[in-house]
Amino acid sequence: MRLIVATKNKSKMKEIRNILSDISFEKVSLNDLSEELEINEDGKTFYENAKKKALAVSQIYRDDYVVGEDSGLEVKHLDKEPGVYSKRYSGEAATTLKNNHKLLDKLKELPMEKREAKFVSCLVLAKNNKEIARFRGELEGRIHNQMEGEGGFGYDPLFFIPEFKKTVAQLEPDQKNKISHRFKAFIKLKRFLRENI
Ligand code: IMP
Repeated sequence: MRLIVATKNKSKMKEIRNILSDISFEKVSLNDLSEELEINEDGKTFYENAKKKALAVSQIYRDDYVVGEDSGLEVKHLDKEPGVYSKRYSGEAATTLKNNHKLLDKLKELPMEKREAKFVSCLVLAKNNKEIARFRGELEGRIHNQMEGEGGFGYDPLFFIPEFKKTVAQLEPDQKNKISHRFKAFIKLKRFLRENI
């Protein structure tokens, strides 16, 4: 059986392959499929976008299980910004660096105790163009006052975990993959697949 993960993001897919390494599904991403798919991520919530991704693929690959994942950063002081706009926070020509700088700028001079944030990962599992189940995982932390670390991707260099006194980008990949929002959501998916399919 095949599980298609509806993403082209190679960093994400690497994490996901790791988390799902012990289930017997063949795991493939959009980069492994012949069909060129452009999915419009214009939903208002992570769940809406995850569902769009899952169904866009599932309506073509009807025999496969498909999981759509949408994730992002919610900063408490910014009323959950950037949220679903995490990838394009700094506009049309957004880059990871520009996004991180924009966030640093918005929180300038805000004390550490007010810089609470969470990463969210939302999953929708689909088969034959129908949603079967949905799962969510969160990771709480704070937005650091400078970028630190080389690992991970996206906002990882700014996402500080008080318990480890490190940003997520300073964690080993295996460490991130034991605590992350994505890990928590995919663990639930894995349990569901084992129990139901
Ligand atoms: P998506 O591919 O539409 O789900 O975009 C998710 C965006 O949220 C990414 O481009 C990152 O900016 C951010 N993001 C999601 N997960 C993570 C993570 O694990 N670390 C850092 N940034 C993340």
